[in-house]
Amino acid sequence: MFCRIVAGEIPATVVRETDTTLAFRDISPKAPVHVLVIPKEHFVDVVTMAQADPELTGAVMETAATVAEQEGLSLDGFRLIFNTGPWGGQEVFHAHAHVLGGAPLGPMLA
Ligand code: C5P
Repeated sequence: MFCRIVAGEIPATVVRETDTTLAFRDISPKAPVHVLVIPKEHFVDVVTMAQADPELTGAVMETAATVAEQEGLSLDGFRLIFNTGPWGGQEVFHAHAHVLGGAPLGPMLA
């Protein structure tokens, strides 16, 4: 599905783009700031991506860090999550980082 966002076939509110990564606002935000960061190349999850291409994984992390900064999250902090596999709550099987912030998020597992 996220390949279709990369291809421009599904609209998304893009907040940052590099040669290899794309960051866009989540359509169903779980925090005041909720941005997804993806590799443009398709990998099913972060583990597959990290094993196949550590450099690309670093680029995704760098884009996530820059997005957090540009969204004003650096001072108070934020959450960076890769849901992985069914038990990890992953619903879209194209590797993506969630950048969540803009309010106190509390403990992760309530
Ligand atoms: O980590 P997980 O796979 O559960 O997260 C998928 C996320 O992708 C959800 O937060 C959902 O709201 C978001 N999404 C999106 N745009 C789409 C489809 C899903 O932002 N077109």
